[in-house]
Amino acid sequence: MALPASDLTKKADGRTTMELGAVLPRTAEVKDGHLFIGGVDMVELAQTQGTALYVYDEEDLLNRMRTYRDSFHALYENSDVVYASKAFLNKEVARMACREGLCLDVSGGGEFACSQMVDFPAGRVFMHGNNKTPAELREAISAGIGRIIIDSRIELGRISQIAGELGVTQDIYMRITPGVEADTHEYIRTGCEDSKFGFTMNDDFAFRCVADVLAAPNVRLAGLHCHIGSQIFALHSFREAAAVMVKLLARIEREYGYRIEELDLGGGLGVAYTADDQPSTIADFAEMTTSAVKACCAEEGIELPRLLVEPGRSLVANAGVTLYTVGILKTLPGIRKYVAIDGGMSDNVRTALYHAVYEPTIANKADQPRTEIVTLAGKHCESGDAVVVDMPLQHPDLGDIVCVFGTGAYCYAMASNYNGQPRPAVIFVRDGQARVVTRRETYADVFSRDI
Ligand SMILES: *Cc1c(COP(=O)(O)O)cnc(C)c1O
Repeated sequence: MALPASDLTKKADGRTTMELGAVLPRTAEVKDGHLFIGGVDMVELAQTQGTALYVYDEEDLLNRMRTYRDSFHALYENSDVVYASKAFLNKEVARMACREGLCLDVSGGGEFACSQMVDFPAGRVFMHGNNKTPAELREAISAGIGRIIIDSRIELGRISQIAGELGVTQDIYMRITPGVEADTHEYIRTGCEDSKFGFTMNDDFAFRCVADVLAAPNVRLAGLHCHIGSQIFALHSFREAAAVMVKLLARIEREYGYRIEELDLGGGLGVAYTADDQPSTIADFAEMTTSAVKACCAEEGIELPRLLVEPGRSLVANAGVTLYTVGILKTLPGIRKYVAIDGGMSDNVRTALYHAVYEPTIANKADQPRTEIVTLAGKHCESGDAVVVDMPLQHPDLGDIVCVFGTGAYCYAMASNYNGQPRPAVIFVRDGQARVVTRRETYADVFSRDI
């Protein structure tokens, strides 16, 4: 693994923190040169809690949950927002999603267990995964999980058998691969034909499998599901997917005489990682998906299904930031300027994994323009270990507190203990108060399972 070639032609943008636009959490502000979020001084917070540190703007999180819920309800009465918890899950965010009336999407037994630890009603939980184990399925079904999204015929047989043994009928969805190419990175594209997920529509396979699903005992086909990918900017991809899915619903109704009541269009709405990104808004996404479903249902002459969407990234990415302390500075003339931080691929693997791009700022110089191009290198033993590659930053000094924006999704969730690094704490900030919602790991935690 290596870093991408350095871009020596890149110019510092001279932006100050507040000029970073949509990447900022809602309550970000600069006072006396310091970055504040939720009314809390990020420099002080780094000093009291240590770095690396994940910080979430609670007001921003709540606002996004409510915007999703209310935008969909206003346009489409029979709709629900299902938080795709794999983007960021701890007990407090699960409690928050529960209080805000969202449903919860879990991939596998671990995330489901978390939901049950905070008494998230199992009936509002949806389970995904392309290879849920028999043990995971049994736990979920016996706990009364609301919906299981089946990914294959093998899994259909498994669920049917387990539900039979437990004496229940399990509501299931079929995950369909609608053949829509979303305009995004290939690692996070899931709706195209060559995907490990779901029932393909090639050779009419998905449609033919409906017969098996309808014939299987102890399950009820409650819905169809698709998820075309992630970090999608072009809303027309969602319209195309909705059209394919509604046509399939209508055809199943016509040819099997069976009405499927629910349609889940997945997640995937893109977010701003750089100051120049202009993603669609949650309201635009709601408008596009609900109008597409309504129009296609009218065209096909079928009743409106219950509509579900499963946002992950667009609920949490911009609500979260990561704080680090600058430990080493190294300039390789004509090559690159390295700013080494006390974290890296252990707390944010996305840059190494798929060249994710983030905007950094120095929290104690937040009113100063970003005048240099730097790479924030991690502290791990991989040359590809960096959180930010060739991005503008204020002139760095040892001991500065660097804030990387937009790290609320798929960072904590993918964190590891590489090099024995304890995972950072998660802090929620609001109204001038900071509270630890996940404590920092200790060295003892890291090796606690070793015999
Ligand atoms: C990952 C995932 C989501 C959430 O995707 P985002 O891009 O984070 O919104 C929703 N549904 C399913 C099935 C997923 O796998």
